[in-house]
Amino acid sequence: MSEPVSITVAHGDGIGPEIMAATLHILEAAGAALKIETIDIGEKVYLAGNSSGIEEKSWDSLRRTKVFLKAPITTPQGGGFKSLNVTVRKTLGLYANVRPCVSYHPFIETKHPGMDVIIVRENEEDLYAGIEHRQTDQVVQCLKIISRPGSEKIVRYAFEYARRHNRKKVTCFTKDNIMKMTDGLFHKVFDEIATEYPEIENEHWIVDIGAAKLADTPSAFDVVVMPNLYGDVLSDVAAQIAGSVGLAGSANIGENISMFEAIHGSAPRRAGQNLANPSGLLLGAVMMLVHIGQPEIAARVHNAWLRTVEDGVHTYDIYKEGISKEKVGTKEFAEAVVARVGQSPEILKSVKYQSVESKVAAGDSAISKRTRAKKELVGVDVFLDWHDGSANDLGAAIGNLGNEGLKLTMISNRGVKVWPGGHAETFCSDHWRCRFLPADAGVITHAQIIGLLQRFSDANFDAIKTENLYNFDGERGYSLDQGA
Ligand code: NAD
Repeated sequence: MSEPVSITVAHGDGIGPEIMAATLHILEAAGAALKIETIDIGEKVYLAGNSSGIEEKSWDSLRRTKVFLKAPITTPQGGGFKSLNVTVRKTLGLYANVRPCVSYHPFIETKHPGMDVIIVRENEEDLYAGIEHRQTDQVVQCLKIISRPGSEKIVRYAFEYARRHNRKKVTCFTKDNIMKMTDGLFHKVFDEIATEYPEIENEHWIVDIGAAKLADTPSAFDVVVMPNLYGDVLSDVAAQIAGSVGLAGSANIGENISMFEAIHGSAPRRAGQNLANPSGLLLGAVMMLVHIGQPEIAARVHNAWLRTVEDGVHTYDIYKEGISKEKVGTKEFAEAVVARVGQSPEILKSVKYQSVESKVAAGDSAISKRTRAKKELVGVDVFLDWHDGSANDLGAAIGNLGNEGLKLTMISNRGVKVWPGGHAETFCSDHWRCRFLPADAGVITHAQIIGLLQRFSDANFDAIKTENLYNFDGERGYSLDQGA
């Protein structure tokens, strides 16, 4: 037996303790070499007054072991409680969420026999940075942040995953026909990194039609990588259409620390009744075993589980008259898996895991070393909270503010150009963007922007924010407007 690997375990809330006990029992029976440190998370910790659901001292365990096997928790109702998952993910920099979505036809009912898709979701950026502002009476905004290093890390992770797991194709989903800069950067990075993996097929789909295709014909996909929001939605869709969200596990991978869990919640109504299916957490634990360098044990557990499913030993959530043979509780299911350790499925495909380099070439080492682009300040967008008339009225009122080498060139409302030459039909909110460019082509200075804001203030306008307009190596670093 190999040297035990330290891991941190949290038993969670609701069905958490039952499915964790079942999972650890199976891992032990299969010969996993683990040294377990237990921490408390969830309801108890929240209600003891810790708004993030995790105690300070628990971070020390996570930093020490660098591996976290986590049962689901219950987030108490009411305000003031922060999502533990988001806290852990962000604090520990878990940039990749990996979720295998597999169907087990004909043993578990599915619309898609043969589905075997890995969703790789970027986990830290995009609209999930949580940067939101109310700016006017009518308008709120949420910033969508996509970084080049963040995109490089997740895309490289997806290709490395495909290479290590003998996957043939990596697909990228974005909406870069609309978000040309943010999703455009993600797509561009995908195209760049794909050239380093010539043996793996690559393709890009616009997320809307890609999602439709994924829901309809998942066999067209293998590994799919996408920014945070699309990944959040589509990983649940993919798990559900494969069969059941109750069966899927997931890995949250960071540069130093990684977390493994089931994708479902704490199902409080099922708690304490020996009913819950431990499969999601168990399959999360299988990913953990591969990650910590115990691939043979991972395969033993996974194959014993497949054989159990194939033998029709099912918990209530997947039990189906005519398909299932025996309806069992959590404990009996675990014993059935333990009894099959060493066996493989006969009809379902058995799994084999390779010993992987413990660290994927991701994280900092995955970030390309580039020289910084030459950046030039070439204009400014001043956003106003204004509700005193039409676009033409506003154009007339602020047209003369752009002196000192600046010139008002355009006003837009919700991204649509409304001055000069707007259309009467365009609805306008109280949130206006006023673009100022150099009166003579060239660059401008920050001092000119400050002077401009001073003139807005003197004229009693509420300038709610500015966005500087830059060129990078001569290339425009801001969007034009619809209609511009
Ligand atoms: P849920 O996933 O707990 O339950 C949804 C449905 O699936 C329920 O009908 C439940 O009975 C069933 N179910 C889920 N897991 C099952 C299993 N292993 N075996 C059998 N049936 C299972 O979602 P919910 O009811 O929306 O949320 C309950 C609590 O879980 C909430 O407090 C929520 O915040 C929390 N939650 C936690 C996590 C996490 O810790 N990762 C994730 C999602 C939800």
